[in-house]
This record gives sequence, structure tokens and C-alpha cells, in this order.
Amino acid sequence: MSGFVVKPEPVHVPGLVHLHTGKVRDLYRNAAGELVMVASDRTSVYDWVLPTEIPDKGRILTQLSLWWFDRISDLVPHHVISTEVPEDAPDDWAGRTLVCRPLRMAPVECVARGYLAGSGLVEYEKTRTACGVALPEGLVNGSELPEPIFTPATKAEVGEHDENVTYEDVVRTVGADTADLLRRTTLAIYGRARDIAGDRGIVLADTKFEFGFDGDRLVVADEVLTPDCSRFWPAEQWEPGRQQPAFDKQFIRDWLTSPASGWDRDSELAPPALPTDIVEQSRARYVEAYERLTGLTWA
Ligand code: ATP
Ligand code: MG
Repeated sequence: MSGFVVKPEPVHVPGLVHLHTGKVRDLYRNAAGELVMVASDRTSVYDWVLPTEIPDKGRILTQLSLWWFDRISDLVPHHVISTEVPEDAPDDWAGRTLVCRPLRMAPVECVARGYLAGSGLVEYEKTRTACGVALPEGLVNGSELPEPIFTPATKAEVGEHDENVTYEDVVRTVGADTADLLRRTTLAIYGRARDIAGDRGIVLADTKFEFGFDGDRLVVADEVLTPDCSRFWPAEQWEPGRQQPAFDKQFIRDWLTSPASGWDRDSELAPPALPTDIVEQSRARYVEAYERLTGLTWA
């Protein structure tokens, strides 16, 4: 079992049509036909959307995403039109709303990996490859790869796992030219972002982009380079050969799988509410990632 522990009701805002309730974001269309993307404070872990929110998470990740869009826009245009909150929308939407160009989305999750972790590590341990890309012997959990690689995945529905696919699968789905464009753009943005993050004491281990097309122009969509779609590791604690501490949902995952939660990940049962200290530590991690990267103070 997986999915929402409690499925949120869409907010009714005059002039907006509700399109989709994602795991984290709610999507609406405004009268101009633009996409209004509202990042909630929801968290998804182990394919469950948890019953407890992390205050400000949606706002922090939206601001971080905007900060990154500015730093990569010479490599690829992004989908954000404005951050204006629609009239009559709840006050709480401020800072978490992006008005975006609606795109024809490429049906590929474009992942770049510079370090070995997660599903890349699992595959490497079996076959010395990641998404079919051959890797050298001797790499361990957290190792830096000889060069960043493109490891695409298919987009899963709520409650399902994204599934890694090979580059040839992407070629079959979108054609050779688009596949090449997606790979080149993914690696170009990753390279830029890894260097920026590295200068600020964060290892950008891997990250996922979603691209779409505006006519035949490639545009980067969704959120970019946040702890929800990337692995950020504090550089001073990076030590290959073990699980790396991360600026993400690690506190939540660790607590949920500890005896304290009373939850069995393999059961059919929904995960429980999070205790206040886990919520607080988790929020502090997101704030720290934002502050380290941007050099700004989270207000
Ligand atoms: P998850 O990303 O956790 O798998 P989800 O994809 O169901 O969940 P969210 O990420 O919460 O939902 O919502 C964002 C949705 O909006 C995604 O489906 C994404 O592909 C889509 N999207 C983002 N930007 C655009 C855009 N400019 N045009 C069209 N769709 C977009
Ligand atoms: Mg998404």
C-alpha cells in the first residue's frame, strides 16, 4: 500500500480550475490558460504522502528553485512567468506559488548523477552499471563517478516507484534528437549546479529535471535543484563507503523505520504522524540547505 495517508481537498479559488493534486504540488489553470503551481508543505517518503506537514517546506523549496532558475537560464529557458498569487487565493499561497507556462512535458525524468547513491548504487552493486551506463570497479556508497552520467527514469503515478530506464529506451520514446538534447541539457545544468553548490559546501550528488516543450523549444519545468528532487550532502561530512548524511527527508525516514514510530514499512498500514522534534529538525535541514546555497537568511 502507498499513496496519500489523507488526500487533501483542492482549494476552491474563483477563476482557477483545479487540474491535479500531486504528491507535493497542487496544479491549477488560470483564466489566461497559465499553470498555477502551488507547493504545499507535504512530504512524501517511501511512496507515502505523510499525514504531517513540515511548516514552510513548500515556500523554502519554491524560493530555492527560483534562485536556481536564475542561475541556469543561459543554459535553458525555464517555465516561470511570475510569482504573483492569484486574486482571492489564500494568503498562505504567498511564496509558494509559481505561475508557469504550460508545456507539453517530455515523458522522462531526467536524472544526472555525479556520485553513487540510491537506485544507482543498487544497480551498480549487481551489474557495475547505472541505467545501462558501464562504471569502473571499486566504487562504493557515495563515491564520486569518473564523470557525471545521465540516468533517466519513467515518471510513476502517485504511490508507484519511478523506474530507471536506459538511454536507448529514451531514444525509443522521444526519438534520437530529443533524447540527445535532454541528455546534454541535463548534464550541462548538473555541471553548473554541482560547481555552484560545491563552492558553498554542498555536494550535489544527483538531481532530477523535468523538461517540456513550448512549440519546439525545450524548457525546464517543475522545481529544480531542491532537496526534494536532489541529493544534497554536507561536503565536510562526505565520506565514501557509508550512507551520507543529507539535507533532505533523512530524519523522517530514519524515525519512520526506527522502533519509536511503531510502523512497519512492509506492512499495508499507513505511516503515523510525525513527532514535533522530527518536524522541527527536518524544517531546520531545509532552512540550512537554503541558507548555505543562497547565502541569504531564511525570513
Ligand atoms: P511527484 O513529482 O512527487 O512524482 P507528481 O508529479 O504527481 O508527484 P507534483 O510534483 O507534486 O506531482 O506536481 C507537479 C506536476 O506538474 C508534475 O506532474 C509535473 O510533471 C507537472 N508540471 C510541472 N511543470 C509543468 C509545466 N510547465 N507544464 C505542465 N506540467 C508541468
Ligand atoms: Mg513531480
